[in-house]
Amino acid sequence: MGFCIFNNIATLAKFLLKENIKKIFIVDFDAHHGNGTQEIVYNDRDIYYFSTHFYPGYPGTGSKDENNEHIFNVPVDPDSSDEVFFNIYGNYLESLFESCKPEIILVSAGFDIHELDPITPLKVSYKGIEFILEKIKNLAEKYNLKVIFSLEGGYNLDVLKTCGKIFGEIFKS
Ligand SMILES: [Zn+2]
Repeated sequence: MGFCIFNNIATLAKFLLKENIKKIFIVDFDAHHGNGTQEIVYNDRDIYYFSTHFYPGYPGTGSKDENNEHIFNVPVDPDSSDEVFFNIYGNYLESLFESCKPEIILVSAGFDIHELDPITPLKVSYKGIEFILEKIKNLAEKYNLKVIFSLEGGYNLDVLKTCGKIFGEIFKS
């Protein structure tokens, strides 16, 4: 229900399972719930799906009621700003890594969470985005995991450009 014809992250996750990667952890910080990803991996217990997204709002899915032992939806209020994300990515995400013990991280990177994005209500600043990216990098290092990013939402080209630079700075090494 988004703008993609093919779901890159879900396709990759399924491929990696076939390649004998046993536990895959998808982090989806796009502003919208990844309803397609969730549906595609819903019966794959070894693919963990973690998503933060504004709720209620388009596409209408992603409530905690849809969660199970490998689906972790964390809906946030539509006007949520950095503090909300500091808490979720600073604490909750790491606790999930502790319990799930994934072998690789796939990231649905949606920069439409930024406050200047024209089509979403979230109020995350560049600092907030930097925090999320750094946290993912820290977790990858701590647990010695490879991490693969896929660019997803982001509808303000200036924001996208700046986020690309932030991403490059954090992941250059
Ligand atoms: Zn989006």
